[in-house]
Amino acid sequence: MPECLFCRIVSGGVPASRVLESPRTLSIRDINPEAPTHVLVLPKEHYPDLAALAAADHGSLLAELVSQVHGVAEAEGISGRGYRVVFNTGADAGQVVPHVHAHVLGGRGLGWPPG
Ligand code: AMP
Ligand code: ZN
Repeated sequence: MPECLFCRIVSGGVPASRVLESPRTLSIRDINPEAPTHVLVLPKEHYPDLAALAAADHGSLLAELVSQVHGVAEAEGISGRGYRVVFNTGADAGQVVPHVHAHVLGGRGLGWPPG
């Protein structure tokens, strides 16, 4: 069994609230939502962070990930009003789960700049 929490969610070993799925990505509700919509879009393949995914030169996977981000916003009914996409990458950004994921946040006005 893989150690990585999100790999275990992808394989079904840990339950999650699934929102969308595409061939190479899975979108789940964040367990501790910071906004009315707070969904995480993750590649099914394991990359520790955005830097690792970008370095692996997976243009098609990155495109699928971004497409799913917008698909989540559409499915949640927030694509018209707007939404925020966040990749926390590394310690300074506060990344806690070392499996790359995009946060899709919306459904309320979001402050800027972030903390
Ligand atoms: P970060 O690594 O800082 O970008 O954020 C990790 C996110 O994963 C946090 O917002 C957590 O609330 C969320 N999270 C942690 N465990 C789970 C889980 N089992 N299911 C869904 N979301 C989770
Ligand atoms: Zn993983």
